[in-house]
Amino acid sequence: MTLIDTTGKPTTANIPQILLLAGLDPSGGAGLQADIQTCTAFGCHALPVMTVNTIQDTGNIYGFKPEAPEWIRRQLETLLKDMTPCMVKIGALGSSSVAIAICQALANTDIPIIYDPVLSAGGGGALSDREMLEQIMHSLLPTTFLCTPNIIELLEMTGVQNESAAIEHLTNIGCQNILVTGGHDTTSSYSNRLYSDGQLTLCWPWQRTPGEYRGTGCTLSTAIAALLATNHSLPDSCQKAGTYISTAVQHAYAIGAHQQIPRRFPLNFFSDTDL
Ligand code: PLP
Repeated sequence: MTLIDTTGKPTTANIPQILLLAGLDPSGGAGLQADIQTCTAFGCHALPVMTVNTIQDTGNIYGFKPEAPEWIRRQLETLLKDMTPCMVKIGALGSSSVAIAICQALANTDIPIIYDPVLSAGGGGALSDREMLEQIMHSLLPTTFLCTPNIIELLEMTGVQNESAAIEHLTNIGCQNILVTGGHDTTSSYSNRLYSDGQLTLCWPWQRTPGEYRGTGCTLSTAIAALLATNHSLPDSCQKAGTYISTAVQHAYAIGAHQQIPRRFPLNFFSDTDL
């Protein structure tokens, strides 16, 4: 992974910028902090925009306050006039009005969007409602390059009963690629499944590390964004990002009494051949 040129002087050309739209988890386990750490680990520059502020510990969520949509719209307009992110990664949205503001602000750009649905917090508390799900389906997913739901999120968003019907539904509304993550399955091993244009193109197995972890979905999807930004193909980015998060989980650390935090950096405990 070479991101610094041989003169040792990083330039804007070799430090890709990734626009991050996500919530603030003050435990630092998920959301914006997870995304910024992951971007940094891969040598990318994060442009963080907060969508929703939350009250959380390592066990659960106790409250959330969406940012004002007009504020987010102005932040995005201001950033996009001056900077040229090569990827957008969207996580928790907070409200349907925030979802609308983001879709409107990004409507005139062609920056590929990775959307990691965050419908509930790591501890199980809700972070979405019916109105927001409708905006996601009508405004966000039709322009999404890659959506990374787990099976529960996939079925909840689409309102159908099984994976193949849900994939067909998302593909029909315009979502180009879908990575269904198996991390929430209850088995000791699980698989991640990549669909492109409605077809299963890649399915690969993982061994579960026992325990509860916060921010795994955020980390995986941001790692994919960073790998795409550094010229990896989509299947390659998904597989390498999977290796990154599973290694980070194997080296996770506890900061409180409940969920542990994946160790997202430094990258030197990841083998060069893996990433
Ligand atoms: N974003 C925020 C702000 C969160 O608080 C959480 C979970 O608590 C998430 C995203 C999702 O985290 P995960 O990657 O564990 O699904």
